[in-house]
Amino acid sequence: MNQDRIRSCNQNSFSHDGKYILYWMQAYRRFDSNHAFAYATSLAKKYSKELIVYEGLRSDYPWNSKRIHKFILEGMYDNQTRADELGINYWPFVETKTNPAKGILKAISKDAAAIVTDDFPCFIIPEQTTKLASKVNCPLYAVDSNSLLPFSRFEKEASAARILRIWIHKEFLKGIPDFTKQKWEKKDLEGLHQNTKPPKNFGLPKDLDTFLNTFAFKEKVLPAKGVKGGRNDALKILKTFLSKKLNNYETGRSQPNSQELTATSGLSPYLHFGHIGIEEIFTSVLEASNKGKWNPERMSYGKPGDREHFYSESSSANHFLDELITWRDIGFLFFWKDKPSRIHLGNLPDWVKNNFNKHKLDTREYLYTLEQFESAKTHDELWNAAQTELVKTGRMHNYMRMLWGKKVIEWSKSYEEAFLILEHLNNKYAYDGRNPNSYTGILWCFGLFDRPWFPERNVFGNVRFMSSDSTKKKFKMNSYLQYIGELSGNSDSLFP
Ligand SMILES: Cc1cc2nc3c(=O)[nH]c(=O)nc-3n(C[C@H](O)[C@H](O)[C@H](O)COP(=O)(O)OP(=O)(O)OC[C@H]3O[C@@H](n4cnc5c(N)ncnc54)[C@H](O)[C@@H]3O)c2cc1C
Repeated sequence: MNQDRIRSCNQNSFSHDGKYILYWMQAYRRFDSNHAFAYATSLAKKYSKELIVYEGLRSDYPWNSKRIHKFILEGMYDNQTRADELGINYWPFVETKTNPAKGILKAISKDAAAIVTDDFPCFIIPEQTTKLASKVNCPLYAVDSNSLLPFSRFEKEASAARILRIWIHKEFLKGIPDFTKQKWEKKDLEGLHQNTKPPKNFGLPKDLDTFLNTFAFKEKVLPAKGVKGGRNDALKILKTFLSKKLNNYETGRSQPNSQELTATSGLSPYLHFGHIGIEEIFTSVLEASNKGKWNPERMSYGKPGDREHFYSESSSANHFLDELITWRDIGFLFFWKDKPSRIHLGNLPDWVKNNFNKHKLDTREYLYTLEQFESAKTHDELWNAAQTELVKTGRMHNYMRMLWGKKVIEWSKSYEEAFLILEHLNNKYAYDGRNPNSYTGILWCFGLFDRPWFPERNVFGNVRFMSSDSTKKKFKMNSYLQYIGELSGNSDSLFP
């Protein structure tokens, strides 16, 4: 494996007395198409050690809810099935009041010769990794499976997508990135499973619904109808996208619609929890759009920076891959060099900060509280529809998400309050929340990665402005509004 994906998190030497290599699956919750799992496997083979995969679920993470817990647990059941197929020693652990997680990881790390984990740059993961690295006696390696190119290749963050696009394309022209094994077979992993048993309190709940009903969650957010987490559903959604939507992506992606009718993939929750990997999406899209088995020779290369022509013969596929690669990566890269300190408005470019200093005292035509926003009680029909979609389905169409964010800025007392409201609502309700792209998506509404726009406006100054009226002129909104109306039913309350 390419060494530029691997980061040593402490100075400890390999513990030859250790019984096993421990893969601590934190962010990329799958076996296939996963560099960290592949690296753990290679260490186990090299040192003739057993391989243990530990996947934990704490009960106290920020914004925890039945919605998020169920999605993650469904992924864990799929992983258990796949581990059994592959003969892998998989140790799932689910925290409850009577089965606390405190000390568990440290305890199982005692017998590890080395630990491998995922190098995800956001939410609670960087802190958890640093903490464990300081407590164990063996090396802990964090492996970057986040995207197609390892982020250590980029010297700094990019100030705009058009700049990162050129950097990425130039890297591709130097050579195809080091893709990892996309589908393991049992014979590849032979000998890595011996007889070490997990502690007694490990394992998955026998009945998911009963378990979820007895659990006290911080947030009262119910699972969305028809949404199931896990690798099996991620692969089904990818298949539907390739056969029914990919060809319309370029022209149809911005039209707000239900998940069934929109041309967008709906893959972001599965990417966020690592139930599917970007490399497997990338190769499947190239195979579907170039009509044949993928191989590097069949890549089409336009000029660096040419969004329409770079990866595939199909412009629609290229548009999709640009979102999946450039737009997703710009958020991860924003967090990469400076993980903990990216979550506030101080990270906006100077032109935006100067602009906000000038406009911070502007009169707001409408002012709403968090409670009014959360319960979709603004004067604006489209905004309320977008918020209802988020609460009821755990998603929001990308175009509506931009409008939604812009309006919270316009209708809040201050920029800082708007940021906190957006962070809270996005991370509480969205399946794909708590991700680098949650923050860069929100900060984009404040002008991040964008340029000044004219004329200068109230509250926004030169930051791009969006309105519901122009959205109604640009798109056919009736079917979106009808879909949302059907979601809301007759209930007055949006809260579960
Ligand atoms: C206010 C706001 C909040 C956002 N919060 C999140 C969030 O919490 N999590 C999240 O993953 N994305 C977020 N986004 C980005 C974008 O809205 C979602 O990634 C996209 O809507 C996911 O839907 P999809 O999987 O159907 O996307 P598709 O259009 O099918 O695209 C495929 C993949 O490309 C990536 N992608 C697509 N559009 C964007 C984009 N604009 N920025 C970054 N990556 C993109 C996603 O990983 C997505 O799954 C936010 C955007 C805004 C404006």
